[in-house]
Amino acid sequence: MKAVLDHVGIAVRDLASALAFYRDALGLEVEAPEELRSQRVRAHFLPVGDAKLELLEATAPDSPIAKFIGRRGPGLHHLTLRVDDIGAALAQLKARGARLIDEEPKPGAEGALVAFIHPSSAHGVLVELKQSPVHSAIGTLHSAISTLQSAISRYTLGDLELISVSDGLMRVDGGAMFGTVPKVLWERKAPADARNRITLSVRPLIVRGARTMLIDAGLGGKDDEAFHEMYGVDRAQSLEASMAEAGIAPEDVDIVLASHLHFDHAGGFTYRDAHGRIRPAFPRAQYIVRRGEWEDATRTHVRNRASYRADNYAPLAEAGVLQLVDEDATIMPGVKVRRTGGHTMHHQIALIESKGKTAAYVADLIPTTAHVPDAWTTGFDLYPVDMLASKQQFVKGALAKDTLVFFAHDPAIAAGYIREQDGKRRVALAPI
Ligand SMILES: [Zn+2]
Ligand SMILES: [Zn+2]
Repeated sequence: MKAVLDHVGIAVRDLASALAFYRDALGLEVEAPEELRSQRVRAHFLPVGDAKLELLEATAPDSPIAKFIGRRGPGLHHLTLRVDDIGAALAQLKARGARLIDEEPKPGAEGALVAFIHPSSAHGVLVELKQSPVHSAIGTLHSAISTLQSAISRYTLGDLELISVSDGLMRVDGGAMFGTVPKVLWERKAPADARNRITLSVRPLIVRGARTMLIDAGLGGKDDEAFHEMYGVDRAQSLEASMAEAGIAPEDVDIVLASHLHFDHAGGFTYRDAHGRIRPAFPRAQYIVRRGEWEDATRTHVRNRASYRADNYAPLAEAGVLQLVDEDATIMPGVKVRRTGGHTMHHQIALIESKGKTAAYVADLIPTTAHVPDAWTTGFDLYPVDMLASKQQFVKGALAKDTLVFFAHDPAIAAGYIREQDGKRRVALAPI
């Protein structure tokens, strides 16, 4: 197997003195730290050629890094080797009797897949294998994500519980998804299949507080085979299945909130019953839609027609469960909507706040973590200049408030914190 050194992890007891050596004495550059909250670790990367050093600092006494230092003192913690096919690498190691900590690859940062090999097989060194998305055939990655991705992830925000749920995966033309960004740049983040399509997740969000709210509802199950084939739809982890896993029945939902009415957000608003009638999928819920979006969706034109399907929302009005909102407003305690425009004229995001903590469901304002830089907008956006202004405004606020951002279409990352240093943005993973 061919492997390239990706980074070397070093456990440090005293970050200031470690920086005095690695940064000041050696003269290496330090990137913005990345917080791995679930591990209670802060990571500081220092690029050295094509590889990096990673200084690992414990942020709590029960952090695995603190325990490591307690046992063995500060020093080399792990090596990370990048391989082209992590599945094949693990199979080869297993066949040769190596002891693996992870028998199957698991999702790592930025869409990578990772697995650890036990130090007892690597002569006292913890070795991590990593496969970057760019090196993987899309088919492998697609199925790996499909099997690895848990349907749900839960977060606590003050008094609210936020549950990211899945309505499966779809494939969309990569060029359309990245607008004016050249393919040589975007395919590093999102590899394309033979039909130039990239894999996207479909992730609605549940907010539980005073009431139970569902924000967007994914693709739903009404579409035919031709549609599934065109968009590569894989609903193995459907909204129905994810909600069941989260312990929430359709009758438990009080409010369904629409970011906008495109089919990958509003498809699950309705379902086809045994008699072929289309009905609201959440029988007790009020459905909240922006009036301008409703008007655009019910009076389509040639430029937006392909994104709207009346079956997803017209039955809501007929059933009397539709509530149109005209302006930015609080929808339930802790959740308010803000119009962003850009993607559609009346596209809106949900801003969530409890006990001084903030989160946001940004829908197609920032569909994936690759869309975090200002210029990375999609070709689907009807008003690109408005999009840019809204994104800049949102990111500024998110940086200031340390907002947990939920990405509706990222195949690997449900939620994270946007970080910015020297004009460069990245996303730090949120603990699950
Ligand atoms: Zn959309
Ligand atoms: Zn979308």
